This record gives sequence, C-alpha cells and structure tokens, in this order.
Amino acid sequence: AKQEGRGQLRFYEALMGVQVRERRQIEHDLRHAIERGELRVVYQPQTRIDTGEAVGFEALLRWHHPERGTVPPDRFIPISEETGSILEIGEWVLRETCREAASWDNPLRIAVNVSAVQLHAPGFSELVHEVLFATGLPAARLELEITETALIRDLPRALATLRRVKAMGVRIAMDDFGTGYSSLSNLRAFPFDKIKIDSSFTRAVDSSEQAATIVRTVLGLGRGLGLPVLAEGVETTGELAFLGAEACQEAQGYLFGRPGPIDGFRHLTTGLPPV
Ligand code: C2E
Ligand code: CA
Ligand code: CA
Ligand code: CA
Repeated sequence: AKQEGRGQLRFYEALMGVQVRERRQIEHDLRHAIERGELRVVYQPQTRIDTGEAVGFEALLRWHHPERGTVPPDRFIPISEETGSILEIGEWVLRETCREAASWDNPLRIAVNVSAVQLHAPGFSELVHEVLFATGLPAARLELEITETALIRDLPRALATLRRVKAMGVRIAMDDFGTGYSSLSNLRAFPFDKIKIDSSFTRAVDSSEQAATIVRTVLGLGRGLGLPVLAEGVETTGELAFLGAEACQEAQGYLFGRPGPIDGFRHLTTGLPPV
C-alpha cells in the first residue's frame, strides 16, 4: 500500500508539473496574443422573448492559438486576471467591440464583459469615455456586464466607478446572478439596468422544481425592482416556454444562436425570426 501511495504521489507530481508548465506557457503566449492578432470577438444575440426580436449582442472573447487551437476564455481569462494582462486584453475587447458596433446598420446594443481587475483599476471610467468618443458609439448602445463577485473586492470603489460610467449613459447588467456571493443589497445599491440569470438555473427549469422556484423568485425580484431579466443559456423550447410563461423579458442561448462572427447579424434591422 505504501508503494502504491508513492506511485500515486509521483503521478500527482507529474500531473502538477504538466499543469504548471502549461499554465506558464499560456501566460507567456498570452502576452503576445494581441500583437499577433490571435484574439477575436464573437457575438451572441440577446432576444426579446415576447416578440422574438434581437435587442443586442454579447461580445465573447476567443483566442486562436497557433498550436493549441481555440483556447476557451475560462482557461485563459483567470490567468490573465492574475498576471494583469486582462487590462490590455479587456481594453482591446472594448475598443474592438465598440468600433464594430458603431459600424452596424442596426441600432442594437452591445454587451461587453468587464473583469473585476478592470473594474477596480484606476482610470476605468475614463477608458470607457475615451473609447466611446474615439469609436463614435452612442453610450446608450453599450452595456457592461459585471458579476457580483467583481463588486465585492472594494464595494465603495466599484460603486463610484459604475456611477461615473452610468452617468455617461452606459447601461450596466448584473451577470451570473445567483452564483457568486449574492447579496440582495447590491441590487439596490448599484445602478443596474438588467439582471442576467446564470445558465445553471435556466438549464434546469424544466427538470428541477428548485431551479424553477429560483428563476421565478429572481423574476419576481426583477419586477419588484423594475429591472428586466435576461435568462442565459437557453437551449430548448421547453426552457423558453417556461421563461415566456413566467414573463421573463429576454433570453440568450444556443436556441437563438451560438456566438459567432458578426457578418450574419450586422445588417439586421427587424430582429431575428421568432423561434
Ligand atoms: P458568461 O459571461 O456567463 O458568458 C456566457 C457563456 O455561455 C459563454 O461562454 C457562451 O458561449 C456560453 N453560452 C451561451 N449560450 C449557451 C447555451 O445555450 N448553452 C451553453 N452550454 N453555453 C452557452 P464562453 O464564450 O466560453 O465564455 C465563458 C466565460 O468567459 C464568460 O461567461 C465570461 O465570464 C468570460 N468571458 C468571455 N469573454 C470575455 C471578455 O471579453 N472579458 C472577460 N472579462 N470575460 C470574458
Ligand atoms: Ca457575460
Ligand atoms: Ca454565466
Ligand atoms: Ca433543460
């Protein structure tokens, strides 16, 4: 048994070694990803449930690594948050997205994810102002998606920053609602324009009474606070039917479209066909 234990330990050490090396490699390669043109933004429609019209898009980052292929954001964003390269990457995403959205034929909104590190970095609101000015995108067409977990690092600071951004006319959405260290007081204290229900709840509304209850409760909360609610990760007509019946305002998910290049959407004037 002792022998076996030692074997297992070696196995773990070897595994750790591989993981550490891979992490270092990602860290290293990420520093050059922007200049090498390996980053892309893809767009996923956000749809009004009652009319089936697209109301906006969420911008999602993709990294096309020359050897690794497409590295999913969940793999490299946490690393870039630790090393600080998220500041440069996040600025690139914001600029790229606003530039793209300003050139569309349609007036749809564009939602951009903002990491905790960006939100708390000095000069974030100035950056947003400068990017809007430089790209000519009307502030009302930009929405920033912020998780609750991003707020709690320094609540007063986050509040001051978001108030400045909001004063420019930019919209603010609470992302992944219900997954982090949720505090209902944040919903009241912060100038949110929308609540996004995390896909872990949406996915289960048709199979779990608990998930259905949580979603109904969030929708009730939204109604009470006057905040529209968007359900993330809608994949089936069953989930959509539940959300429609419960008067959820917006939805996003594979049922309406996978994240992709904007080409198919940019000339959209009347919204997506209803499902
Ligand atoms: P998120 O903000 O919750 O984004 C939604 C994620 O759900 C996206 O994953 C999207 O592709 C995926 N998704 C959309 N519809 C469906 C569906 O019907 N089913 C399933 N299973 N998944 C669906 P993605 O693109 O891999 O991004 C993962 C996370 O990475 C995002 O979660 C966000 O937290 C982060 N992220 C992505 N782009 C950026 C960025 O530009 N900046 C920052 N800071 N974070 C980003
Ligand atoms: Ca998001
Ligand atoms: Ca989510
Ligand atoms: Ca389901």
